[in-house]
Amino acid sequence: MSFAQKVKTEIISKPIKDDHCKIAFLSGVMRGSGVLFERDGELGVDFRIGTEQGAEFVSLLLKSLFNYDVREISVSENNLSKNDRFEISVTGKEAITILKTLGILTGDDDQLTVDFDFYGKICKKDCCLRSFFKGLFYASGNCTVPTQGKSSSNTGYHLEFTFSHVASAQATADKLSQIGLSPKVTSRKGKYVVYIKSAEEIKDFIAFLPAPVSVLSIIDLMINKEIANNSNRQKNCDLGNLNRQVTASINQINAINKIEKSVGLKTLKDDLKTVAIARKNNPDQTLVELADELGISKSCLNHRLRKIVEIANDIKG
Ligand SMILES: [Zn+2]
Repeated sequence: MSFAQKVKTEIISKPIKDDHCKIAFLSGVMRGSGVLFERDGELGVDFRIGTEQGAEFVSLLLKSLFNYDVREISVSENNLSKNDRFEISVTGKEAITILKTLGILTGDDDQLTVDFDFYGKICKKDCCLRSFFKGLFYASGNCTVPTQGKSSSNTGYHLEFTFSHVASAQATADKLSQIGLSPKVTSRKGKYVVYIKSAEEIKDFIAFLPAPVSVLSIIDLMINKEIANNSNRQKNCDLGNLNRQVTASINQINAINKIEKSVGLKTLKDDLKTVAIARKNNPDQTLVELADELGISKSCLNHRLRKIVEIANDIKG
């Protein structure tokens, strides 16, 4: 199961207690993927949901709030997005009642207009705003997180909502900003997408809903990734040191060989000669190990080795 699916499953795993929050959830679903239509002069509404469980959850809410019996959950293979495979249609007077209650339509029955104020009266209470976002995410949200074992370059953190209208996307981005997140808005294939890329913020959004089990699993992922990153950094760092040491050792041994072949090691002062012989015999030793063996400090050893390299450099040919 994808991470998005886990979050969605958690969202509908608990029944919603209060009517105001039930209304907010349905309003979120409707704003996210609902469709208004007119058939035979009658107004109708489609709730479109990605899973059968989600569609059943919506059915229960319609029953509990409006005493509306959903007669059929239809499955559409034609809808473009997998977020709206299951469809619940309501028409006529009941559709109008539902849409007015959800804050989608406003005005008298003979002069209905669509209320584009997404987060207006429905989301006044904090509990309702959270519930609205649950519905919205369920209907039009998606979220991906890095898969364990894969490199982070192709599977970063990403959470998004998709809308048909730019105003809806902008209103959602504004609301997310108000709760402390920094979403961006972009367009893709004629749709408007509100997205968040920061792992920390995605975690915060899921905590806001709240979906605590999913929060734990994203924290777990973030920690594991952090550990993996640190250990990679450590490895790179160790390797860098090692490379530098090896290069230095090779330079020193080349210098010592050059002196030996041209003027002979005996021409070196005793302290330098001792170091040259020790280095030549122990090319793999680190400076610390070599200094230890010679009973001198690391900086003293370093100084003498540099001196040897200088002498070698001064020898022509
Ligand atoms: Zn509420």
